[in-house]
Amino acid sequence: MTVHGIPPEVLAALAGAVGPMGVTVDAAGMTKYLGDWSGDHHGGAVAVLKPASVTEVQAVVKLCGALGLRIIPQGGNTGLVAGAVDIEARGAVVVSLERLNAIRLVDAGNFILQADAGCILQHIKDAAEEQDCLFPLALGAQGSCQIGGNAASNAGGVNVLRYGMARDLILGLEVVLADGELWNGLSGLRKDNRGYDLKQLFIGSEGTLGIITGVEVKLFPRPARVETAYLGVASFEAAVALFREARRGCSDLISAFEIIGSECIDLARLIDANIVAPVDAPVHVLIELSSGGAVDLRALLVEFLADAMEKGLITAALFAESGAQAKAFWAIREGLVEGQAKRGYHVRTDLAVRILDIPALIDQARRFVALEHPGWLPQAYGHAGDGNIHFNVLPPLGLAERDARTAGADITAGLYQIVNSLGGSISAEHGIGRTRHSAFWAGLAPPHRRLITALKNALDPAGLMNPGCLFPSMETFS
Ligand SMILES: Cc1cc2nc3c(=O)[nH]c(=O)nc-3n(C[C@H](O)[C@H](O)[C@H](O)COP(=O)(O)OP(=O)(O)OC[C@H]3O[C@@H](n4cnc5c(N)ncnc54)[C@H](O)[C@@H]3O)c2cc1C
Repeated sequence: MTVHGIPPEVLAALAGAVGPMGVTVDAAGMTKYLGDWSGDHHGGAVAVLKPASVTEVQAVVKLCGALGLRIIPQGGNTGLVAGAVDIEARGAVVVSLERLNAIRLVDAGNFILQADAGCILQHIKDAAEEQDCLFPLALGAQGSCQIGGNAASNAGGVNVLRYGMARDLILGLEVVLADGELWNGLSGLRKDNRGYDLKQLFIGSEGTLGIITGVEVKLFPRPARVETAYLGVASFEAAVALFREARRGCSDLISAFEIIGSECIDLARLIDANIVAPVDAPVHVLIELSSGGAVDLRALLVEFLADAMEKGLITAALFAESGAQAKAFWAIREGLVEGQAKRGYHVRTDLAVRILDIPALIDQARRFVALEHPGWLPQAYGHAGDGNIHFNVLPPLGLAERDARTAGADITAGLYQIVNSLGGSISAEHGIGRTRHSAFWAGLAPPHRRLITALKNALDPAGLMNPGCLFPSMETFS
């Protein structure tokens, strides 16, 4: 009997590659691998394979190549652009890295950590902390996303302005290539100028060039001091001006600078009804400073904020007096993201502009929505220190989902037009996946298209890896 159209001999071959524990074909067992965190995207697969070793990943890739079965690499499935969900259900297999999840090495002397790709980000952060080190990649999904997924999507998060994106934090990768061969790029070297930096090809490739099986990351000394304050400002212009002053005024020790339009607070309350906005202002700023023990961060921050208040850059300021209070401030920022998901379908963007263009982006976007789609509710927040704004728009309550999705597509297109006119990017950190490839390709100059097509053809000539992700169709690169 065939299962999902897979003949028994193919099923037996797959089980031979990963063992019976490593193959799931029943609908109930596959459910969690076929839908993403947002609940917006659902896909199909003929099977879910869960290799437990690098050798098994190689065996899977070789077998799939021989059988002509396409592969969707999957980490924690927290990506928000359907990169790991085959929404067009092209008959591929999902290869989940969840069983390849060991921390291989924590080398505090060299400030290096090496882990299997399926290791949960939070586990890596905890292992670093046990050695008095910091792995600074920090995002709301860190309890579920995997370091391989972080590498494949070049994840960002709240500490980018101080430590950089995944691309800046990764020292080396180990990758199973599309022909099943293993490339070991784990050298522990911080400087290595021998030709092309191959790891950078795979970082941000969203599973389209190979399967990442191992990741080597940079560690940092764990900050001995952290100061957090929640501020009220009069406008997004004031928030940007504050950031400019804060970089100098706080000796470039800022590790996070998040802005939150006050309209977003209601979303956080959907997660915790007890949340009360710490300040009453049109725009809120969450600022965090961190440093080694020798710096009196509190004094630095107090002096800077007193000066900012005098200059009229802020209207209110609250210091976190304890770790618990800092956590409560962050709960607002994290809660609003989860609260949005509770509202069901909504327009979700991840835009980047130069920092000084943030006010223009938000102003133009709000005007566009008010004019073209009155009743829709814009929510603006983001990692402002990196020019990264999530300008999301909630449909009016009661609007049927099908109508919301139609209008949502129009709103998204309008927002992309605005960000393009400002010379920005339609994806600051979430990637392209399957939800943005048309807009991505439409905005590419011919040489850019040629280069990425050549790379795809060179590394994955049979188009085995993650079809439909990043590239709109197989034809695009044939
Ligand atoms: C609440 C919440 C908050 C978030 N906040 C942020 C944020 O601040 N910054 C940010 O950048 N992102 C954020 N995200 C998005 C998401 O968490 C990141 O993109 C994360 O890096 C995805 O990791 P993952 O393991 O879940 O990957 P998945 O979602 O499983 O996959 C993402 C992509 O990588 C590919 N892939 C996964 N593993 C591998 C592998 N081992 N080898 C090759 N390809 C692979 C997949 O095919 C897919 O294309 C957030 C998501 C949520 C739900």
